[in-house]
Amino acid sequence: MTPFSLLSSSLLHPTPNSPRPLPPPPPPPPLSVCKLGFYRSLLESASCSKCPPHSVARQPGATACSCEDGFYKIDSDPPNMACTRPPSPPRNAISNVNETSVFLEWSAPTEAGGRKDVRYNILCQRVLPEGRGSEECGANVRFLPRGLGLSNTSVMVADLQSHTNYSFLLEAVNGVSELAKDHAKQYVSLNVTTNQAAPSPVSVIRKGHTEKSSIALSWAEPDRPNGIILEYEIKYFEKEQDSSYTIIKSKETEMVVDGLKPSSVYIFQVRARTSAGYGAFSRRFEFQTSPYLTATSERAQASIIAVAITLALVLLAVVAGFLLSGRRCGYSKAKQDPEEEKMHFHNGHIKFPGVRTYIDPLTYEDPNQAVHEFTQEIDVSFISIERIIGAGEFGEVCSGPLRLPGKREIQVAIKTLKAGYTEQQRRDFLWEASIMGQFNHPNIIRLEGVVTKSKPVMIITEYMENGSLDTFLKKNDSQFTVIQLVGMLRGIASGMRYLSDMGYVHRDLAARNILVNSNLVSKVSDFGLSRVLEDDPEAAYTTRGGKIPIRWTAPEAIAYRKFTSASDVWSYGVVMWEVMSYGERPYWEMSNQDVIKAIEESYRLPGPMDCPEALYHLMMDCWQRDRSSRPKFDEIVCLLDKLIRNPSSLKKLVNSSHRVSNLLVEHANVQGDCSAGSQTVGEWLDSIKMGRYTELFMGGGTLRRVGVNLAGHQKKIITSIQEMRVHMNSTSSTVNM
Ligand code: AMP
Repeated sequence: MTPFSLLSSSLLHPTPNSPRPLPPPPPPPPLSVCKLGFYRSLLESASCSKCPPHSVARQPGATACSCEDGFYKIDSDPPNMACTRPPSPPRNAISNVNETSVFLEWSAPTEAGGRKDVRYNILCQRVLPEGRGSEECGANVRFLPRGLGLSNTSVMVADLQSHTNYSFLLEAVNGVSELAKDHAKQYVSLNVTTNQAAPSPVSVIRKGHTEKSSIALSWAEPDRPNGIILEYEIKYFEKEQDSSYTIIKSKETEMVVDGLKPSSVYIFQVRARTSAGYGAFSRRFEFQTSPYLTATSERAQASIIAVAITLALVLLAVVAGFLLSGRRCGYSKAKQDPEEEKMHFHNGHIKFPGVRTYIDPLTYEDPNQAVHEFTQEIDVSFISIERIIGAGEFGEVCSGPLRLPGKREIQVAIKTLKAGYTEQQRRDFLWEASIMGQFNHPNIIRLEGVVTKSKPVMIITEYMENGSLDTFLKKNDSQFTVIQLVGMLRGIASGMRYLSDMGYVHRDLAARNILVNSNLVSKVSDFGLSRVLEDDPEAAYTTRGGKIPIRWTAPEAIAYRKFTSASDVWSYGVVMWEVMSYGERPYWEMSNQDVIKAIEESYRLPGPMDCPEALYHLMMDCWQRDRSSRPKFDEIVCLLDKLIRNPSSLKKLVNSSHRVSNLLVEHANVQGDCSAGSQTVGEWLDSIKMGRYTELFMGGGTLRRVGVNLAGHQKKIITSIQEMRVHMNSTSSTVNM
């Protein structure tokens, strides 16, 4: 009996004392049987619902719909939700290699499978040499923030092995991927080769036996040497006297530092060097010398004096030998700062304030000997020239494969020396190879060798698929993420840190002299005539003679040829600006004379469009007038690393509405406050002593022209500003900018 039949029978037979019965409720509509394609879930008693997308009800009267083939549902999906499927693979995956870390970035899949819970998994495989397949990377490799279940579209993979091939599989998954066992995995793979990393910092320095004038130090090898440690550098200075310091070298993990003052506190730092370059210095350790002479040292003194006299004689003979042979090994006079030139001789240790490992080929009487010493001769039969890729000062630049016996074939760039050269031109051409051959760093263009025994004479370097950085950026305007741009800048800074550690001053650092490979790794190149810069079309003659690329060069180098690593830092700031503005010409169409004048008057380039404030701040620091206040390359690398590790620090952009209101910003205003480039047009006109024209600009059509261009490119703004200048000249006055 149904509940309805019970109810109806009680109405037919009322009991004598029962209250007046309620009117019967209307009978429910008769339940229809859901037809094909419709369903009624058990809890829902009213009408039938149409099966949600990608599901079917194959029988009439269905209480649920089942998913079409290839579509799935999980328990927590509501009955009226469509059946879904796994997503398509991630798109536009790119890698950015930084020594032994790789930054991977991708875009969301085109097809999310109908769900909102797309996540990404990264599978890391190490490719084994000689085609022996690959193996999983193992637990030592770190993924930041994690390798599985990522909701954002980038990851940093750290602690990989150096010089190793890796394959990364990026997989997009969603809530139903687990159910789709038959569904082929939706991967996209990225192959990368890591570079060589510098050693990690030495973590602790211990003090041993201490005397009145000496302290014995010892330390442990860095946790991650990343190669064979060639030597250590010990840097020390008296506390609070850090303007002058001494650096000594040791092949061991201990050293007695002597020649110190009694009862004085000294600061010590140690760093290790491998073939990849120097690691960072350890943190500072403070140790004090004793106030008195110990018995041991008194006894030792007599013998030390005797040994010292002998050593002094030997050293004298060695120095005399050097001078007579006209060679200064490991020491380039041409590249020295006078204040850095002093060398100390202490009990047999030669102390160099700074590293002097680069040898200027000019110090060789016979330049062919430098070529012989620093480069490898390649037999021309191993090279095939396939394409012309550019024009160098001495001849065409080509590309093609290099097949050295017993080695994997690689693509190389081939610089040729055109026929009919003079002996001087041959020497100048090969000079670049003798410099490049001394460098070994992932961000310095690598020399493969030279061809000098046949004609044409050639310089063979690694091939950089994306060519020079300025052209590459112009071609790909606005195509990169900030992290990719900072990755390129980090590479350049790391290469420059290596060069400055080697004691080499580049003098022509600019985006046109940076090359980019297919992994977006940027490398410093053009060591050719960095001393005289004859080949740089940007170089202009200065009043003191010599050609200088004015827009990239520090004021002291323009004014009195004071080229140092600090002037390279200034140029690096300009390269940062070029990169962040996608290859824009620094100072646009301003003349070289106007640039010199503006810099002299403390004006600086404004922050490029969409430039993170932190980067603009760094640029401004590189453009400090006082060269000792500019950051060092190791500090720049350190800062860029921090920004890459913490991308949210790059979110705050230079205030755009103010950024474009002035051609150049006043340097003094910006110190300590990046947004201080914010002047009104009126303030800017005041600052260039044109305040009396504010009204004219505000009222007339000229400002409107600027206003229209504010949304466009900065080049246009300058054109407008130049128009303003013309306009003003014709109204009454001479504009001095
Ligand atoms: P350079 O004489 O070094 O200024 O080279 C002239 C041009 O050749 C450059 O601007 C690049 O476009 C190209 N080039 C030089 N070296 C390489 C290289 N290693 N890989 C790819 N392109 C290169």
